[in-house]
Amino acid sequence: MLLSITTTHKPATDLGYLLHKHPDKFQTLDLSVGKAYVFYPEKGVEKTTISLLLGIDPIGMLRNLRNSGGEGFALGHYVNDRPYVASSFMSVAIARAFSTAMNGNCKDKPELVDTKLPFEVFLSVVPAPKGGETLIRKLFEPLGYEVDLTRLGLDSKFPEWGDSKYYSLKLKNVITTKELLSHLYVLIPTLDNDKHYFVSEAEIEKLLQKGEGWLKGHPEKEQISKRYLVNLNSLYKKALERLSDGEEEERIEDEWIEKIQQKKKETLQETRIKYVVEKLVESGAERILDLGCGEGKLIQQLLKQKQFSEIVGMDVSYNELLKAKERLHFIEIHSKQKERVRLIQGSLTYKDKRLEGFDVAAVVEVIEHLDLDRLKSFERVLFEFAKPQMVVLTTPNREYNVMWGMGLEDLRHSDHRFEWTRKEFSDWANAIAEKYRYRVEFFSIGEEVESIGSPSQMALFRHEN
Ligand code: SAH
Repeated sequence: MLLSITTTHKPATDLGYLLHKHPDKFQTLDLSVGKAYVFYPEKGVEKTTISLLLGIDPIGMLRNLRNSGGEGFALGHYVNDRPYVASSFMSVAIARAFSTAMNGNCKDKPELVDTKLPFEVFLSVVPAPKGGETLIRKLFEPLGYEVDLTRLGLDSKFPEWGDSKYYSLKLKNVITTKELLSHLYVLIPTLDNDKHYFVSEAEIEKLLQKGEGWLKGHPEKEQISKRYLVNLNSLYKKALERLSDGEEEERIEDEWIEKIQQKKKETLQETRIKYVVEKLVESGAERILDLGCGEGKLIQQLLKQKQFSEIVGMDVSYNELLKAKERLHFIEIHSKQKERVRLIQGSLTYKDKRLEGFDVAAVVEVIEHLDLDRLKSFERVLFEFAKPQMVVLTTPNREYNVMWGMGLEDLRHSDHRFEWTRKEFSDWANAIAEKYRYRVEFFSIGEEVESIGSPSQMALFRHEN
């Protein structure tokens, strides 16, 4: 992972004084997770560049760290993106390599400390979480940076694999050295979801110290504090309180409480499930399929309604079915309840006799997990062969993603193969209705925003007997 800082200030060789790094020396720094190297790939009066190259040892990192991230798969500790991306390790390296400059000191040319210099920064790989490009711009542009981003492919040998979630980033600004370093120190880990160290109260101090003079006025200060502190609510709240100097403490406190209460009140998933249950109850159905049932949240709610005499949950993932079994206390539940539920493993892209003869099928946030070229099989399996009287089907509305600061190409979940606009969804659903003799109606799920719609969308198909 490489960070390069270039200046064209004259004489550009002042960069050596400013950063307290001799242009003729190649310096190696030992970090707990590997090594950092500081060197000058170019040095001249017109233009000078200093580079900080981070060499992370992923196995050493595992040994040394309390909290190494990379959860999710067994080899994740060893095989992860840490060696290649600009993460909080880069901040650690910046603070180590350029501590004097970060503290606003310059022994030999003190007059340079407050001088705004033309800088160009190059970061070879930055991870882009949800919101990717939009988020990067939102973080740097308000601070006066010109942002130039290039999305990196997954593998240059296989262009058909498409884009990765990484960018290379060029930034330009005229700014003091201390400002530049503190921006990089705070904003680089803000882009990284996978923090490597234990987040503690000390992190608030670092955030406030390095953010001094600019974070308070940044329009994204909430998002920066939150992401920097890895969405730890209480720490985030404390940081915001301190950023507000107490003037706005009450307002923030109120907003904060309101946010937490809202969050408690209902998540989007809960809203969706409630709405689906409502439609199922209204339909008068007794025998229900929950296709792609996942961990059984919908089934759990369906069981509370006596009207449903038979509930069959199907999922392709055995793991999800195990979770569902646990959620429904399958083993202990009363034998009467047990008779009403069955969990089966199967794929929605293969014709399956077990799915025939039901009143209703719920397909909640599932189709976007199917490859587009398998969707045709799914349509036939459900609407031609299983042929329930009614189908309640939901999927994300891609138009709403901007409300979460996501870019146009970003998907909400790494397993999503696509996300549709309202038009794409209704075109698809209308064509199906016509082909398989259903009537279809559309509904919005969650808060509705003008010309954007709601976060999730529902199609309700009724068979025309
Ligand atoms: N309906 C659930 C889960 C949605 S997540 C809810 O609303 O909470 C999507 C689910 O679809 C996952 O559990 C996934 O395992 C399942 N799935 C993906 N492809 C499938 C397929 N071909 N056949 C059956 N289930 C599938």
